[in-house]
Amino acid sequence: MNVMNASGWKPGTPVPAGDESATVSGNRGLMLEEPLIFEIGTTETTGVDLPEPATDRVSRLGRHARTGAIGLPGLSEPETVRHYTRLSRQNYAIDCGIFPLGSCTMKHNPRLNEKVARMPGFADVHPLQPADTVQGALAVIDELAVWLIKLTGMHSVAMTPKAGAHGELCGILCIKAALQARGEDRRVILVPESAHGTNPATAAFAGFAVEGIPADADGRVDLAALTARLGPDVAGVMITNPNTCGLFERDMKAISDAVHAVGGYVYCDGANFNAIVGRVRPGDLGIDAMHINLHKTFSTPHGGGGPGSGPVVLSEALSPYAPLPFTERQGDGHITLVEEETVGDRHPHSFGRMSAFHGQMGMFTRALTYILSHGADGLRQVAEDAVLNANYMLRSLEDLLDAPFAASGPCMHEALFSDANFAKGVSTLDVAKALIDEGFHPMTMYFPLVVHGAMLVEPTECESKATLDQFIASMRAIAERANAGDDSLHAAPLLAPRRRVDETAAARKPRLVWREVAELG
Ligand SMILES: *Cc1c(COP(=O)(O)O)cnc(C)c1O
Repeated sequence: MNVMNASGWKPGTPVPAGDESATVSGNRGLMLEEPLIFEIGTTETTGVDLPEPATDRVSRLGRHARTGAIGLPGLSEPETVRHYTRLSRQNYAIDCGIFPLGSCTMKHNPRLNEKVARMPGFADVHPLQPADTVQGALAVIDELAVWLIKLTGMHSVAMTPKAGAHGELCGILCIKAALQARGEDRRVILVPESAHGTNPATAAFAGFAVEGIPADADGRVDLAALTARLGPDVAGVMITNPNTCGLFERDMKAISDAVHAVGGYVYCDGANFNAIVGRVRPGDLGIDAMHINLHKTFSTPHGGGGPGSGPVVLSEALSPYAPLPFTERQGDGHITLVEEETVGDRHPHSFGRMSAFHGQMGMFTRALTYILSHGADGLRQVAEDAVLNANYMLRSLEDLLDAPFAASGPCMHEALFSDANFAKGVSTLDVAKALIDEGFHPMTMYFPLVVHGAMLVEPTECESKATLDQFIASMRAIAERANAGDDSLHAAPLLAPRRRVDETAAARKPRLVWREVAELG
């Protein structure tokens, strides 16, 4: 073993005296040690018996063909199964417990969604199949599109973007195309200080200059500062609503009206739509484009980088620029795909394509299943319960943890805390690590940037009061230690498979080759 286990002792070496929790195997009850596959596998072992490949074929790899042995470690089948099963048990998952990552909306993914997504008619179709043979799959895309338009009160929806950030790019490219069609070269996109990092990144990627707008003391966009900056060079604004402080932007309609008055467009980051679905229609707030994270608001599992789906709802003004392809339901119920070859002169201003095919089919089936099983009333209750749970969290912790905007009224779907009450030397990181010992995934840390040492807790509507109370009890105990300056917090986590890593060294000098690590012993 090249990395010390929880007790700081290496498996296979004598158990240190005085560490009662150390074992000879390195396992601790159900918490099983697992070395890297490179350390346990050998090139001589394999779980399969394949015939030798024919050697008389001409290689098409030319001088790139491998000449030496491949050197990959092999294991027998049971060893392989155990290796990955043991590793998976060292991970935390929404199926294990509450996952309070603010802004990420880690909600339960109903098993019904999975069942539907795996139906062969959805799971086994190919995007190049003739449309006549996949009418059911196209109907799912079309019906989901109708729901998204109705729920948001918008004019149209682009279904193809594959994540929230991809949806942002789609919306901003629509704005760019609309400005080009007007023959205007507006260069500036205004983004509030509390914006999700993807917003300024998207605007910059699309070639705009990004300018920040300050927040007011309440944690909302400073309307006066925003209107003061508006002018003929402003292409638009990107506003997250509810914002990343967990607050509803009450001035959204006034912001939209002011931006429209100077000829700009309003992009709304709708990743947090789960807080208002069924209660507020962004179309009524004057929004021109908004992405919806199907993988957040409408469940579907995500994390570790995917999969996602970020359809973008568009106002009438931006709809002509929407990307291809899209579905079109004919009078007889038949659904056709509008693509470059079939678009004719019906959609001449499309800015192009966001993806090769029609979007994330597996996410569409899961999201539509979620929507249909909840119904309109159920979706409204999703938003209400998400907000209720977050406020329960906020009010149960605000006497111990500083809650910078608690006086601004109820929060939306997430509760924001800061490190202001912690004794000197204790950090948000210490609290997060102590939560790992308590068996919880930590909350979002150090985001949003407008608050020092931020802790953003999003319980979602899925958690029961009993679960919330367990989390709150742990959080209260840790907060008391943090406020009292308990130095032992720096040592957390004590009970996890691995102790605290040197995060600076890990970021600055990542060791990506296992052999080097092994040699360090
Ligand atoms: C999650 C999130 C995004 C980005 O969504 P991805 O699907 O991860 O690209 C953008 N804005 C906000 C507010 C978010 O919470």
